[in-house]
Amino acid sequence: MRRSIATVSLSGTLRQKLEAVAAAGFDGVELFEPDFTHFPGMAAALGRMAADLGLTIDLFQPFRDFEAMPPGLFARSLDRAERKFDLMQAMGAPLMLCCSNTSPLSVDEPDLAAEQLHALAERAARRGLRVGFEALAWGRHTSRYGQAWDIVRRADHPALGLILDSFHTLSLQDDPAGIAEIPGDKIFFLQMADAPLLSMDVLQWARHHRVFPGQGDFDVVGFYEQVLLAGYSGPLSLEIFNDMFRETPNRRTAVDAMRSLQYLESQVRPRLAARAAAARPDPRAAAVLAVRELAEPPAAPEFAGVAFIEFAADEATAPQLDAQLHQLGFRRAGRHRSKAATLYRQGDIALIVNAEPASFARSRFELHGPSVCALGLRTAQPQAAQDRAIALRSQRHRSPLGPGELEVPAIVSPGGNLMHFVDERLGPDGLFAADFLPEVDDAAPVDAGLRRVDHVALGLSLEQYDTWTLFTRAVLGLSLAESLELADPFGLVRSRAAADRTRSVRLVLNASLSSRTLTARTVGRRGDGGVHHIAFASDDIFASVAQLRAQGVDFLPISPNYYDDLPTRFDIEPALLARMREAGVLFDRSADGDFLHIYTRAADEGLFFEVVQRIDFYDGYGAANSPARMAAQAQA
Ligand code: MG
Ligand code: MG
Repeated sequence: MRRSIATVSLSGTLRQKLEAVAAAGFDGVELFEPDFTHFPGMAAALGRMAADLGLTIDLFQPFRDFEAMPPGLFARSLDRAERKFDLMQAMGAPLMLCCSNTSPLSVDEPDLAAEQLHALAERAARRGLRVGFEALAWGRHTSRYGQAWDIVRRADHPALGLILDSFHTLSLQDDPAGIAEIPGDKIFFLQMADAPLLSMDVLQWARHHRVFPGQGDFDVVGFYEQVLLAGYSGPLSLEIFNDMFRETPNRRTAVDAMRSLQYLESQVRPRLAARAAAARPDPRAAAVLAVRELAEPPAAPEFAGVAFIEFAADEATAPQLDAQLHQLGFRRAGRHRSKAATLYRQGDIALIVNAEPASFARSRFELHGPSVCALGLRTAQPQAAQDRAIALRSQRHRSPLGPGELEVPAIVSPGGNLMHFVDERLGPDGLFAADFLPEVDDAAPVDAGLRRVDHVALGLSLEQYDTWTLFTRAVLGLSLAESLELADPFGLVRSRAAADRTRSVRLVLNASLSSRTLTARTVGRRGDGGVHHIAFASDDIFASVAQLRAQGVDFLPISPNYYDDLPTRFDIEPALLARMREAGVLFDRSADGDFLHIYTRAADEGLFFEVVQRIDFYDGYGAANSPARMAAQAQA
């Protein structure tokens, strides 16, 4: 499988882009011509630089506004093409992308378009080059792949083929099912892009909001399947125009890019296998599986809850955190055998406060109060979970082990925190029994009825949001809810939840579109961001809140106006409303059930906690109350 990426998809100078792409394991690039126009060397030097990095230049793009033009303009365009062919030969690029004409001077005559493209292909062929024709979604007369294919077929030249781009087809909601009927050898190149579903001008959508497969909402797997069934055997490439990717460090983007292609391949494989094994087997699917090396990472793990959350602390912050956790009803339950780490328990929840200098250094930011440095997820397949992550470009992490301590497979998650995969068969206490010496906590508080970790919310920089979307979906196999935009008094916060099938692991990704929100300010202090709040589940939130208040927990005050407004939005029993008002508990309702929740006040705008109670099958996170929370935080 040859994998390629357009140079427009990454930040940096052209050399830096090629270095990042090569380091991520790509085979080639699509050269976006403006990158070359500003390159300080000649075309041949670029070709040598790419070759030296182990990369081929698979495609030269874009060649615009060519076909179906009046004769005078056509002659000028042929001259223009010859200059581009000179460059392509010098840099070693075998294929030119010619995108459908957007010029108001072009005419709606497919036969003329075919005739002129034939002439272009003939010029290319004389130099051993080829031309691919791509329908732009906003092309003047050719906007769909079916129209482009019709013109290519009429042109009937061996050096002219079709270029497919998932964005143009899926953004127009065109049916990709016809792609499989196109002869595979007439498809010269395949560009994949995903995108969020947006209601906006398609050109603006295409130029600013494309994302890697797995980061958006398009059925990119279904599209790719059709291209493979056609018998296409060229590179699988990415062409992503995205404002954020233009800023993101390009090594990170290149890793996401490779992960997205491997994920795409791994998702299409079972679909092809099902076609090949159907009662009436599809021989095309069997042929693809026989010849194409599609990525096949180990299956995504099944999770069984959050095993532990680990905080990084130092000598100053560890006692503060100890006091805070005691207030929240956690008791000290163990001391690590070989590290300066303390275990806290309540219900099924395990929190570890790690005061090792190494863990503190790993958190990489100056601590303003506690910060989470690692997350342990319980699964029956810890090794497969780690193997899958590594196959999808995550880094393995090995912690130093003392005698008798268990090795827990771990990886580095985006942004640098650790993620451990804890063997479910160890039971709720097995890991801690091995690694911690039991401790009797003389200052143990009364249990506040916090039972489980309900969700862990991350505050991320905007550039990490898409990275985490792909990481949770591809590496962890979580499914993603719709991306929402929530109103903080100082700007919008984008938010998206990722959860496993049984809802035992729930992560909420948040990124601020404004630099002035609380989310943005906390992310700014922590580099790429990190855990923003942790929600614990209670089976009786009112009893938990009463106990926690008695232990001195400071909850975020909610405006009385919120409680006056609630009964205008929901049909709520007056007694329940009065209890919520008195306790400061927030309320949400969906078709599946009700949600009660409350937030602690964060010290120094740092990490805060949430207590939640899900009633029936409520599956959300109280997003409707986020403005209430963020306004209260701003006013607190
Ligand atoms: Mg394209
Ligand atoms: Mg929450």
